[in-house]
Amino acid sequence: EYVLDKQYFVDVVKDLIKLAEDRKDYFTELDSAIGDGDHGMNLSIGFREVDKNLDEWQKESVNGFYKKVGTALLDKVGGSSGPLYGSFFMKFGLPVKTKGPDDGVTFDEFIEMMETGVNIIKKRGKSTTGEKTMLDTLVPAVETLKSAYEGGAAPKEAMAKAVEAGKDGLESTRNIVATKGRAMRLGERAIGHLDPGAASSAEILEVFYNHMP
Ligand code: ADP
Ligand code: MG
Ligand code: MG
Repeated sequence: EYVLDKQYFVDVVKDLIKLAEDRKDYFTELDSAIGDGDHGMNLSIGFREVDKNLDEWQKESVNGFYKKVGTALLDKVGGSSGPLYGSFFMKFGLPVKTKGPDDGVTFDEFIEMMETGVNIIKKRGKSTTGEKTMLDTLVPAVETLKSAYEGGAAPKEAMAKAVEAGKDGLESTRNIVATKGRAMRLGERAIGHLDPGAASSAEILEVFYNHMP
């Protein structure tokens, strides 16, 4: 049976730490156009804190590990993305909370984890798709992940389709006004610009894809 082992989940976080540094300027540039220009900095602050503690935290179960990651983002990052991504990671491991430090996760469980994470963002953000937020990437991605896998696609193939759906979702944020977040205040002037959170979400999903066996 296909299993995502504990190391997969650690490697993903290691790469998210790297992503937050490498793409800091790009996320900030997007946020400068329609927000307050700190999205790159916010992610960088959060994942630097994760980096400091990674050696200690990776001894935990998948759920324990992601709870720590999420808590760090929640505690250290101001702004909307800290609490939203923080909540995502805090709840991400909940469907596999009974597993031990060396246990892996089946693909069905992985899909449940993704759904749980996205649902908490909806709840915390009181938001849904079509509002020019990270959910425009995450919701179609996770829906596609589930439907592709249930339709018979192999795990990594289903995730590839999810990443593509997320990128389409990201692109869809260009042509809509924001009804959540700071870009709301711009009204029509937000048109023509990608949403920064949708952009970071698309790249986060790609990291989850890249490390899949
Ligand atoms: P802030 O806007 O507080 O400066 P960031 O710049 O780090 O925080 O993050 C902005 C991103 O957060 C937006 O691009 C959007 O994707 C996301 N966001 C903001 N509000 C919401 C919400 N209510 N629901 C979902 N995502 C949101
Ligand atoms: Mg901002
Ligand atoms: Mg801010």
